[in-house]
Amino acid sequence: MIIQSSHSNTPVWKDIHVHAELPEQLRPLEEIAHNLWWVWNEEAKAIFEILDPQEWEKSGKNPVVLLQNLRSEATEKALNNNELLGRIQRAYRSFKNYMSVPHDNERPSVAYFSMEYGLSHVLKIYSGGLGILAGDYLKEASDSNVNMTAVGFLYRYGYFTQTLSIDGQQIANYEAQNFGNLPITQVMNEDGSPMILEVPFHDRPIYSHVWKVAVGRINLYLMDTDLEYNSEYDRPITHQLYGGDWENRMKQEFLLGVGGILLLKKLGIRKDVYHMNEGHAAFINIQRLHDYVIEEGLSFQEALEVVRASSLYTVHTPVPAGHDYFDEPLISKYMSPMIQSIGIPWRQFMDMGRDNPGSHEKFSMSVFALNTAQEANGVSKLHGSVSQKMFQPVWKGYFPEELHVGYVTNGVHLPSWATSSVKALYEKYFGESFYKDQSNTDIWKNIYNVSDDELWKLRMHLKKKLVDYIQVEFKEGWLKNQAAPSRIMNMLEEVNPNALLIGFSRRFATYKRAHLLFTDLDRLSKIVNNPKYPVQFIFAGKAHPADGGGQGLIKQIVEISRRPEFLGKIIFLENYDMRLAKRLVSGVDIWLNTPTRAQEASGTSGEKAEMNGVLNLSVLDGWWYEGYKEGAGWALTDERTYDNQHYQDELDASTIYSLLENEIVPLYYAHNSNGYSHEWIQYIKKSMAEIAPHFTTKRMMDDYFDRFYNKLAKRSHLLQENGYAKAKEIVKWKIDTVSKWDHLEVVKLEFNPNQKANFNNGHNEVYGQVVIDRKDMKCDLGVECVVVDHDTMNNEPQFVQSYELDLVKTEGSLLYFEARKALNDPGTHQYGLRVYPKNADLPHRMDFAYMRWI
Ligand SMILES: *Cc1c(COP(=O)(O)O)cnc(C)c1O
Repeated sequence: MIIQSSHSNTPVWKDIHVHAELPEQLRPLEEIAHNLWWVWNEEAKAIFEILDPQEWEKSGKNPVVLLQNLRSEATEKALNNNELLGRIQRAYRSFKNYMSVPHDNERPSVAYFSMEYGLSHVLKIYSGGLGILAGDYLKEASDSNVNMTAVGFLYRYGYFTQTLSIDGQQIANYEAQNFGNLPITQVMNEDGSPMILEVPFHDRPIYSHVWKVAVGRINLYLMDTDLEYNSEYDRPITHQLYGGDWENRMKQEFLLGVGGILLLKKLGIRKDVYHMNEGHAAFINIQRLHDYVIEEGLSFQEALEVVRASSLYTVHTPVPAGHDYFDEPLISKYMSPMIQSIGIPWRQFMDMGRDNPGSHEKFSMSVFALNTAQEANGVSKLHGSVSQKMFQPVWKGYFPEELHVGYVTNGVHLPSWATSSVKALYEKYFGESFYKDQSNTDIWKNIYNVSDDELWKLRMHLKKKLVDYIQVEFKEGWLKNQAAPSRIMNMLEEVNPNALLIGFSRRFATYKRAHLLFTDLDRLSKIVNNPKYPVQFIFAGKAHPADGGGQGLIKQIVEISRRPEFLGKIIFLENYDMRLAKRLVSGVDIWLNTPTRAQEASGTSGEKAEMNGVLNLSVLDGWWYEGYKEGAGWALTDERTYDNQHYQDELDASTIYSLLENEIVPLYYAHNSNGYSHEWIQYIKKSMAEIAPHFTTKRMMDDYFDRFYNKLAKRSHLLQENGYAKAKEIVKWKIDTVSKWDHLEVVKLEFNPNQKANFNNGHNEVYGQVVIDRKDMKCDLGVECVVVDHDTMNNEPQFVQSYELDLVKTEGSLLYFEARKALNDPGTHQYGLRVYPKNADLPHRMDFAYMRWI
């Protein structure tokens, strides 16, 4: 027998979970950690940090993980720290007080549906601006006591984290989220078992777990299909945000819409208004139609009236190519059974998703959303009119300007995006009530009571924090990439905390033109290397993994940043997420944005910068078109000079260089004896006094109520009263009108095209007469004159104005109209006359866009 020196097999490691059992005094923190209220409460975050600074960092500032892993020394220490225990008590009381305020039931209640929500960096269920907007909106709903419930997905992998290879290639890492580490709670049945939502797909049920995210007073419910009841084929439905093929997207949108409504039903939640954040959620209205038909016994048309009256669709995408379209075979596979049970022909359903009913176009989620929602809006003033043009094909015979599509300009949740020291400044000078009254410009004027010195010190403090962070992050990134130590040291030495610091971070979609700054490298090099007046740029952003163009831009910028003349002057930071975004929008001096005109629906990162006293330099597109004020930032005109995009890019780049050379850099470096520029501070004060108050989610929320929610709730109640009497009446009227529409005849049409502009607004001269025989039709008719000018470029008619003719007499079935109003716009125009059915119960013309040109 030989005795070996050792003998062993390989170990089999098994998980054990050791959860720190928190002592009673610390237990309130557990409740706070599971409500995202802490995200915008500085005291709560401070307490988590003090509790165990090391673990707080290690956990990625995730309070759930922090408390799970709290070391016993930290617990001991906290229990002996009476001051800390007192702070915990007070924070808990203020949390409880916040939570105990009931919903404001004077305002309508809202159900909100979105594919993504950006609430906190610890919950990776967002990719970019759309999600962060939705997240900010829920936080505001909480602060504003709105009765809102939201629905979305809990993604197993979320959106990717980004690293860069040594040559600047983006590497997308999908890391599975451990749900036990997230600030969520699983929704359970009464018997304590996990609630399972069953959603009938075309040939099988799909099961979802349901998770609740408490966003202050608002509940967000998330569906998750990664459970053993589903087949291997269905479990990944909620794995990735915007991942997978079209079929997976179809399944996701089916689940979000149909499943979303079934989920609210299961939870016993009904709301006044149903809000679709982007067309992804449009299938909510298929399930709602289904329910009104099957459960309430309404006809399809009646159900459609009721559903429309309570629906709002918000579009975020200014180019048609960015919308979702499904091929008929794919949508038919998933939707046919549902459409059969609703009882309408398949073709009718398909046509609800087409610009041109009867054609073979793909099914557009946006068009379906428009056809099932009474109201629709874009997300900035400019984007509202871009959306009107984009959606004009749905309402033939009308001009874009006439459409009901409105807008609400996006905002940002100030308490989340203003950094703690800026919030402290607001509290000091604006008073405690400020948060409740953020749209009040009088309060913001108090920024002029802050001394230049104090404001400058604050800005420098925030910049220093960012520069420190860059140095640490950068060192780590470069070490990871095995760069030579001398290069790292050179780079770190080049980063200058006193240089003018300009930030550019967003998704690397090509229309955002991150490359613009690099059009003329010699000129750029002179700007950044000016020995007296140095300038530095920080870039960050992810490109969609399928977007080769966007990834190419990242690589290009990384390569340029490694040239000797740009080392430490152009910096690319990896993995742009909410946490990095907050550092950047508060720490730089200027926030740069260079979108291709009319493609930035709103943009919100520049608004976040405003909340921190950071100035914007941007193309007048999206929100900046409304926000820009002279002496409070810089703007590139909203007008295009060239059709050729390449020339336009060159012109815009050269404008940016000149602005920097001639205005911005001199302004920034006009130092007084205290070492800063008085004029620069005046820019900051003006931007805070005059721009910031208009771009908070508080203002945005109020706009949604004023422009959409209130009128939707009012009309949808009216339609539902007395067993849906009004809805039924309207449908009867519509059916009657449609069946007889072709009967109407023009008996007389006289119109004098030579008019005197009547500046006195008098109704003196009659210059047109129209007589219509409406035959057996019961409906009232309107006649209007539409005035256009023909565009010399493309000979397209451009809308000038329209006005109604007066109904002066009715004789049997004959209606007599007269035109008594002339244009106030001298010159030669073209006019056309059109007849349309009139009914005061309709919300607007696009609700029933029947019309005949005569
Ligand atoms: C705010 C934000 C965005 C959106 O920025 P835009 O200016 O709208 O492009 C995207 N990503 C992150 C991480 C953000 O914080």
